[in-house]
Amino acid sequence: MMLAFGGGKSGIGEGGVKIVGLVITEWKDIPMELLLRIVSLVDDRTMIMASGVCSGWRDAICSGLTHLCLSWCKNNMNNLVLSLAPKFTKLQTLVLRQDKPQLEDNAVETIASHCHDLQDLDLSKSFKLSATDRALQAIGRNCSQLQSLNLGWCENVGDVGVRSLAYGCPDLRTLDLCGCVCITDDSVIALANSCPHLGSLCLYYCRNITDRAMYSLVENRMKNKAAMWKSMEGRYGEEGLKSLNISQCTAITPPAVQALCDSFPALHTCSGRHSLVMSGCLNLTSVHCACVVQAHRTASYIPYPAH
Ligand SMILES: [Zn+2]
Repeated sequence: MMLAFGGGKSGIGEGGVKIVGLVITEWKDIPMELLLRIVSLVDDRTMIMASGVCSGWRDAICSGLTHLCLSWCKNNMNNLVLSLAPKFTKLQTLVLRQDKPQLEDNAVETIASHCHDLQDLDLSKSFKLSATDRALQAIGRNCSQLQSLNLGWCENVGDVGVRSLAYGCPDLRTLDLCGCVCITDDSVIALANSCPHLGSLCLYYCRNITDRAMYSLVENRMKNKAAMWKSMEGRYGEEGLKSLNISQCTAITPPAVQALCDSFPALHTCSGRHSLVMSGCLNLTSVHCACVVQAHRTASYIPYPAH
């Protein structure tokens, strides 16, 4: 490994690296800031190995690392998380997407109890999480700064877990619940009540979801409207759902989805924008966003003949 620093004044000297007057004779003496810059260039597996080089490197990496992805781990991810989470307490982004199910409740509980700064967590395909929702309750209790959570295909997740999440993580902006087949309207109602910044929600294949969930989103939009106008001075337009996937939620009816579309103008069914996705819901083809209605009006407008 070669290191070179700024201009012509620095270079690799005999037995060390020279940085404008500072000679580093041992790897362990590399300044923390520089070490973090270097490890940011290597993959996460190498970075974890680097944290084991010496106590100095371990302390520097553990206290400075904010992003970590362990999706490359095909075996033993659960144990790896159990050993790393208590050390990497400054993590803001943690990606634990799995191909082969590995993560269990205890790993997620360990993450929640040590990584309180987490903002972005990907737990997709954690099939092994139990139906007791222990994992999500731990996140709800400890990770109040969470903004983005992917629970795609965590099929044991239930309403108890999503409710804890909604109450404990009011800053939640993006939530993927696709394939969480056990959740019902209660989950969406809790999110609508407690997470006013929710901008993206995926409910793909959540077959228990009905109109009740859609109307709760509409009602809370109305409720928050006045409050937000006051507190955010016109930033209201930036809030609210911008992306919703209700594909395969076949119990939902057109009036409920149309009400949703009318309340959240950023939800589009038109091609090109398509931020309201409802494929597989054949009964919802009559639902249209504002632009489709507008285009229809323009097309059917017959001007008076000019005389
Ligand atoms: Zn549109």
